[in-house]
Amino acid sequence: MSLTRKIKDPTDAKRRRMVEDYVMAKGVDDKRVIEAMLKVPRHLFVEPALAELAYNDHATPIGSSQTITQPYTVAILAQEAELKGDECVLEVGTGSGYTTSILALLCQRVYTIERINSLSNKARKIFNKLGYNNIVCFTGDGTIGIAKHAPYDAIVVTAGAPKVPIPLAKQLKPQARMVIPLDNGTGQIMTVVTRTKGMHFKVDKKADCSFVPLIGKHGWSK
Ligand code: SAM
Repeated sequence: MSLTRKIKDPTDAKRRRMVEDYVMAKGVDDKRVIEAMLKVPRHLFVEPALAELAYNDHATPIGSSQTITQPYTVAILAQEAELKGDECVLEVGTGSGYTTSILALLCQRVYTIERINSLSNKARKIFNKLGYNNIVCFTGDGTIGIAKHAPYDAIVVTAGAPKVPIPLAKQLKPQARMVIPLDNGTGQIMTVVTRTKGMHFKVDKKADCSFVPLIGKHGWSK
């Protein structure tokens, strides 16, 4: 046996099964999203003790009472953002950094903001390890956005909001999309908000979803 023979990554098969069974089988067909999900090593974004669960289709704890978003939902968030490759994207809710990493493979630059410092620091270390150098991390209240780098080609919010945070809507470019889980009284619904002209927006309700709350000045109080 040649020592230089390429050793197959044992997590490749798990990722392929995850993408086939929980993403493609449920109707996600954006090739770039599928390719990105086949590449990003999801097991690195959960606690080592939970690595075995990383490729199942459910949210998994990441510490600080937060969760890594389930693979299918990440795929929907990314697909609905309709990224082509040259966009600057704002993500609100870095969490583990997994969704950030998928977005980073789909666009030019991701600005990501997380309210919990320890999660932001942990995610930053993984981005460095994986060489994802088009991600810029911030810690703070993402409901006010990041005005310094606005306007954005897309905004992806990965926590459930009571209503669209106005500062985020204002930070969208014309025709740009915000993908955001919104409370509808009985649960949450994944919603796409498109800035049509000035301060006019088109709102498209997509699928039911379940996220931890978006806490902040323009979100929930706790
Ligand atoms: N998509 C992430 C992933 O793949 O790991 C998971 C995100 S988790 C469901 C939601 C995250 O949003 C949590 O880490 C939470 O702390 C964060 N969050 C909640 N409110 C926030 C706010 N106002 N600004 C920034 N982050 C916020």
